[in-house]
Amino acid sequence: MPRIMAKAWGFGLAFIAAAMLALALRPDLRLAARAAWNDPRLLPAVADDARVHYEPEARVCAEAVAEIARRAIAQIESAHGRPFAQPPVIGVYASYENYASANAMGDSDIAAVTRAGAALLSPTLCGAERHRLESVLTHELSHVHLSGWRPLGAPRPPQWFTEGLAVMASNGGGAEGVGDDEAVQAIRDGYRVVLDGRRWIDFAGLGFEIEPPRDPTKNALTQRQRLAYRQAGLFVAWLRRRDDAAFLHLLRALEAGEAFEPSFEVAFGDDAQQLWRRFISDLSQSRRSDARD
Ligand SMILES: [Zn+2]
Repeated sequence: MPRIMAKAWGFGLAFIAAAMLALALRPDLRLAARAAWNDPRLLPAVADDARVHYEPEARVCAEAVAEIARRAIAQIESAHGRPFAQPPVIGVYASYENYASANAMGDSDIAAVTRAGAALLSPTLCGAERHRLESVLTHELSHVHLSGWRPLGAPRPPQWFTEGLAVMASNGGGAEGVGDDEAVQAIRDGYRVVLDGRRWIDFAGLGFEIEPPRDPTKNALTQRQRLAYRQAGLFVAWLRRRDDAAFLHLLRALEAGEAFEPSFEVAFGDDAQQLWRRFISDLSQSRRSDARD
């Protein structure tokens, strides 16, 4: 082998070895590589809706998803006050294993995940949790809408806001089983979600000022997360009712890639914590007027 070729081979092998070492040492890179390999865009699309991709065994469910997606997309465009930046991609999985690979978390227990501009749906939404399919899909499309506009690398808004927005825009998607009244009562009783600055979902989810009591008949983690999401959704809806123009101003700023906290203050003339306290005090006042009725 000529020397120059041997050298090129050497570099090539060194590169492959370095890539393999990086994948072995960095689980996040390994998850990202598996997700790219299982990207929903690589799957076939529903005949009359190129946005909905599916694993062949999930064809019937994917056709139902395409039907629902038309309504869900219109609902999100109306709630966010703007069309999608690009047609949203939806992935319908039949295999829990492939779904876990595609969602880049290696976790098949989550009902749906938005990743790289696509809403990925767990097989459970075509099976045991079919009743949540429409609300969860609509919720995820809110995330797809916001992330589709934001420039790459723009600062992420805090999780309480993106989840609250998705719950509000989907009329309760992601917070199924926890009603508005229950969430309001929990806020009045002091079991209040903490609006901290965390940008990423972790396994503990959103926190509470005081841990809410557990209902032994329900899955504790699911119940806790849905209560947190419902409270965040109520607050986001309250912000919107309070000043619709300010709310849309904030959304447009986030879509342009601006940071959350200063954009919030410019839009509402106050910070989120102050307005959260006002929201809570409004709730206690409405209790007093309820009591008078
Ligand atoms: Zn969400």
